[in-house]
Amino acid sequence: MVIDKNSEIQCGCGKYGCFETFASMKKLKPHLPEVPEEYINNLLIGINNLKNIFAPEVICLGGSVSYYEKLFKNELPDNIKFAKLKNDAGIIGAAFLESFLAK
Ligand SMILES: [Zn+2]
Repeated sequence: MVIDKNSEIQCGCGKYGCFETFASMKKLKPHLPEVPEEYINNLLIGINNLKNIFAPEVICLGGSVSYYEKLFKNELPDNIKFAKLKNDAGIIGAAFLESFLAK
């Protein structure tokens, strides 16, 4: 998902200006323990795009960024949560996917 059509930063997918190049853990890591305002703004642009498409009740951030939940305190809307299962959230979700879809 492109969030900056004028970006000269090429993403691993080959496109320029992808959400991932602005809001990934790779982008955040050099700044830790600070979370730059620009990072949060780009994260919110991407999340708002996804909200407009899917209209979810809650957005859950998983992966490595979920370990830094406390650094984002008060910077994100209340409907954005962090995965309690941290990096394991995806694999545990995948393990339960078949039983969830069977219902
Ligand atoms: Zn990309």
